[in-house]
Amino acid sequence: MSNDLNPQEKLLPTPVDEKLISGPARPNSSAIKLYNKAMTLANNLWWSWHPEVVNMFQTLDPVRWRQLAHNPIALLKEYTPERFEKRVLELVFNTKFDQAYRRLMEYISDRPLWAKQNAGVLGAHPVAYFSLEFGLHESVPIYSGGLGILAGDHIKSASGLGVPIVAVGLFYDQGYFKQRLNARGEQEEEYIETKVEYVPLETAMDKDGNKITVSVDTAKGPIYARVRKMKVGRVELYLLDTDIEENSPEDRKLTGTLYGGDRRTRIRQEIVCGIGGVKALRALGITPGVYHLNEGHNSFATLEVIRGKMEDDGKSFETALREVAQQTVFTTHTPVEAGHDYFDADLIEEHLGPLRMKLGLSRDQFMELGRKNPLDQNEKFCMTILGLKLSRYANAVSSLHGKVTRHMWRDLWPQKEEEEIPIGHITNGVHVPTWMAWQMQVLFERHIPGWTEESINPDVWAQVYKIDPGELWETHDVLKTLLIDFARRRIMRQLRRNKFSEEEIDQVKNILDPQTLTIGFARRFATYKRATLIMQDLEWLSRIVNDTKRPVQFVFAGKAHPADIPGKRFIQQIMEICHEERFTNRIVFLEDYDINVARHMVQGVDVWLNNPRRPLEASGTSGQKAVLNGVLNLSILDGWWAEAYDGTNGFAIGNGNNHVYDAITDERDRISLMEVLENEVIPMYYDVDEHGLPQRWIRFMMNSIATLAWRFSAHRMVADYARHAYLPAAGGLSAKMP
Ligand SMILES: *Cc1c(COP(=O)(O)O)cnc(C)c1O
Repeated sequence: MSNDLNPQEKLLPTPVDEKLISGPARPNSSAIKLYNKAMTLANNLWWSWHPEVVNMFQTLDPVRWRQLAHNPIALLKEYTPERFEKRVLELVFNTKFDQAYRRLMEYISDRPLWAKQNAGVLGAHPVAYFSLEFGLHESVPIYSGGLGILAGDHIKSASGLGVPIVAVGLFYDQGYFKQRLNARGEQEEEYIETKVEYVPLETAMDKDGNKITVSVDTAKGPIYARVRKMKVGRVELYLLDTDIEENSPEDRKLTGTLYGGDRRTRIRQEIVCGIGGVKALRALGITPGVYHLNEGHNSFATLEVIRGKMEDDGKSFETALREVAQQTVFTTHTPVEAGHDYFDADLIEEHLGPLRMKLGLSRDQFMELGRKNPLDQNEKFCMTILGLKLSRYANAVSSLHGKVTRHMWRDLWPQKEEEEIPIGHITNGVHVPTWMAWQMQVLFERHIPGWTEESINPDVWAQVYKIDPGELWETHDVLKTLLIDFARRRIMRQLRRNKFSEEEIDQVKNILDPQTLTIGFARRFATYKRATLIMQDLEWLSRIVNDTKRPVQFVFAGKAHPADIPGKRFIQQIMEICHEERFTNRIVFLEDYDINVARHMVQGVDVWLNNPRRPLEASGTSGQKAVLNGVLNLSILDGWWAEAYDGTNGFAIGNGNNHVYDAITDERDRISLMEVLENEVIPMYYDVDEHGLPQRWIRFMMNSIATLAWRFSAHRMVADYARHAYLPAAGGLSAKMP
């Protein structure tokens, strides 16, 4: 849904005349009913993946919609019910709002077929899905990047398939930072207080109708958290928030920002989310059948479940541990050692001491749960190791990442061969309706009626070949134009803020050309992602960018972690290149990469470039979003692309081999990237028939959609989790992950 820019915007009626709307104030029950229906829609994130509902909100007031970061609650709060009704009637939207409301009500009350057939066992004992971040929509800033968006897509697809899941996370008052690039091209971080009243939150209540506050004991006293609730289709997401009076000023800020603060902040966030999360579910009267830990951050949850079993059922620690492990699914996402959470023994004792005593463990016994070598007193406590030890179902997020992960943690199973190590893989996927442009969805609906209901079925996607090539190309063209408009508007805003001259700002209208092959690169600026790989030879770059017949242009975006100095230097380097005369208007960097920027980019470029140093990309999902929109991937054979690429559905950089020296690998990949671009990508893109259509390219677009869209959808991913992990974990069966 490209909902930032509506091509029909200009055709909209002018805003309502104030004189017309401020008539005599009288309570109007039809207005109130309509307004409440709209608010109900706005309070379930279901709206965000239903383009027709998005478009309704947007059409109410396109300018305010954009200014309010596409937040329907904020928008509705600008209307009284009477004014709202007037506006809706004027747009002849009243039936549409009614229909949307009815569809939501039906959606919530209905249990889809897939779940009836495949997930019945989970019925009354849902999967509890723990994640430190959830990326659901740009108006709900409780995510930083890939991990959060994966969690968001996971629960949206669980909702779609009807897999019973309750999700648990933290509510951040400020979220992750907003990125500003100053006149020198440096990243500046800005933290903005979220207006809680604009977030679709409710206060979670226990069965007696009381507000829920949970507490987590530390050696220095308890930390309290209130429990909030967010509706994501059929799924309830519970978010813990420590900003309450009961806490010290320090602890009130604990859930302020995502991945801010020091190790102490981090462990406190993790006990609140993990341990506090389990307590919250208990207070809600929810008894999960399965615990799914998205990354090691929440591994402490398992210990609280064990404590519960010991206290309530009088079980021994060992018995309770075995039972909990049987119920626990653990997903690891990080192929880099430093990316895993480690805590010193002192921090562990301060924060887990009270729980440790209730579990009847000595300090050493407790530390062993998070150590590779139980006897090594110097080893820190690793959250991933705790997760691996306390789960019977552990998985990596792509086939290659599975191999890397088994190798990484082989010491935990000294008696096993590496292939036998019980860590499988389930490759990540993306939520199709969230990431596929509505224009594409409309095109699909026209040629493949009912495709959304069956988006997990390869045969449905194979029908993409029925779509007229010219129509597919035209739709892609529309999306490209929308991206270019978006880029110009964003860059104009950035230049204004940085006090560039009007003359320079005026130049922005020449930025990017709709006829030119456009390559997108957007990701976290971690150095292993090698954002500047294509910029090592600027002579060459200038030649391909300024080629008169077959030019190329680039759109970059991405944030560097505030503490990542080399990552920030990469951004500045690219910004400097953008400002060189030979690259002006042809290489641009969009600031503040978030879900909104990502959506525009993965829908509007021609090629999605990804060149990480293999095998450090666990999976990657942005390229999967590109697939849904007919954008071709040009990528290192790493993560998901290593199992996706078949020679006819995109382009590969390198041959999947690494040299022992990084510098040599980098050099080989750089040369391969240049060659593939010059010899394959550019010629194919500009090879057009007499109607101006690049037939070979369009064939690749169709191949990409047909072979990849279903495999790398979040529906397929959640179905795999259900079959290979959730059901066996709930039923006490043993199953082997693929
Ligand atoms: C999809 C997405 C990511 C993750 O993409 P990668 O391919 O893993 O880099 C990160 N940030 C945003 C905003 C996204 O939409």
